[in-house]
Parts: sequence; structure tokens; C-alpha cells
Amino acid sequence: MAEQGSSKGAEGGSGQFSSNKDLLKHYEDQGVQAMYAVEPLRYCDHLKEVSPLPECGLNVDDPCTECNATGENWVCLVCYQVFCSRYVNGHMVKHGEDADHPMVLSYADLSVWCYKCENYLDNTVLGPAKSSAHRSKFGQEI
Ligand SMILES: [Zn+2]
Ligand SMILES: [Zn+2]
Ligand SMILES: [Zn+2]
Repeated sequence: MAEQGSSKGAEGGSGQFSSNKDLLKHYEDQGVQAMYAVEPLRYCDHLKEVSPLPECGLNVDDPCTECNATGENWVCLVCYQVFCSRYVNGHMVKHGEDADHPMVLSYADLSVWCYKCENYLDNTVLGPAKSSAHRSKFGQEI
């Protein structure tokens, strides 16, 4: 961030953070930047397990199959069941282990995660699911 750099220079290094809150904010910013810096994989073996999109498409408002939680759920790209995130009741993590289904799509940010590779994925195979979720979420194609 160019802005941050120039303000740092103007203050001459000392007294860079006016309060602990600013310092905390600074570290949060760094964390967020580090998160976005993660490059998704273009390919992994588990893409083969992704099933064709159901005809009815995806609905980002579907509740968790297990506990009915709504909001930031995940959909399994192998069986298209919807489960909640690890920050709710962790039912998608559990489903991934129980059913051995590795590939899931987040209704929160439409990213695809592979449990086996522990990495984000970006591949044309995932296009139909992503664009269906996008249409459901924003009312239009990507
Ligand atoms: Zn749940
Ligand atoms: Zn599944
Ligand atoms: Zn994988």
C-alpha cells in the first residue's frame, strides 16, 4: 500500500502508532493482506471427484443439512449437500471427513477449497458451480 508507506516516511519511524488500537489494526491489516496473497492451485487430483452441477443450480441461502444454520455455509461439490463452516458448527469439515468428499465451495466468498490439498482451487471445472452460486448471491453471472 503506497499510502501507508508515505505516511510512515512522514512520521519518521517513531510514534508510528498513536495507540494500541492502531497497532492492533496494523497487524489485522497485515493478516488480511497475507490471506489474499495465497495463490489458488490451478489443478489437483481431487478435481476429478467434482460432480456435474444439479439442474436446479445452487442456492446460497440453503441452510446446513445438519443443524439448519443459515448464512456463510459451504456446498460439497461431490454430493451438493450444504453444511455450515468451521466457525459455526463445523459440519462441512465433518462431512468432508465422514464422506471423504474433498472439494467444497464457500457461499461466503465463492472460493473453492480442497480438504485433501488444504489449498484453494481455481479451475474451469469449477466454473459452473461458481457462476451458479454467484447468480444466486448477486442475481447475475460472474
Ligand atoms: Zn451445521
Ligand atoms: Zn459431499
Ligand atoms: Zn486436492
